[in-house]
Amino acid sequence: MIEFLLITVQVIALYLLADLMGGVFHWAEDTLGDSDDFFWGKVFVQPNEVHHNKPAEMIRIPWYINNIPILTVTGAVLGTAWVMDAISWQLVVFAAFGGANQQVHRFAHGNRLRLPGFIKWFQKIGLIQNARHHWIHHTAPHTTNYCVLTPWMNPVLNATGFWRVLERIFVPVFGAPRRPDLKSRSWYRG
Ligand SMILES: [Zn+2]
Ligand SMILES: [Zn+2]
Repeated sequence: MIEFLLITVQVIALYLLADLMGGVFHWAEDTLGDSDDFFWGKVFVQPNEVHHNKPAEMIRIPWYINNIPILTVTGAVLGTAWVMDAISWQLVVFAAFGGANQQVHRFAHGNRLRLPGFIKWFQKIGLIQNARHHWIHHTAPHTTNYCVLTPWMNPVLNATGFWRVLERIFVPVFGAPRRPDLKSRSWYRG
């Protein structure tokens, strides 16, 4: 019984951690650098800007195109761990949750009438994030709710000022020319 409880707690923690990691990466895509930066700009900032300007575009492209970048990253992480003989069930579960980020995001933008019933149920009971929760991120000033997997991390991270702490640490180092709202800060780097 204790073992079952321990596994359950770990699975929940890994699920929340995958949401947090996805949120931090999304925050970086939205905040740091510019669309013409080498690699970072072309591969991450540009598609992200398209999503912000035209959120509905996402569901017009095939689901696998949407998911290729994140699945490539999770596949590379698992492959590296396998080669290094460092694979564990926790890493596999974490990679599976992490890899689901973009598909859950896509479900939040999907036409509700076309979503499978079990997905709508998962959204309803709060197992995965729903459209209303995600839409807060697409509403000005677009500086909250960066996590897209669950509805549980965003309220905590918003309320504790977590995103603002990331800005204080990383903007002076990498620059955030797309964030003129931070211009008045002494540490702002455009
Ligand atoms: Zn965003
Ligand atoms: Zn979105």
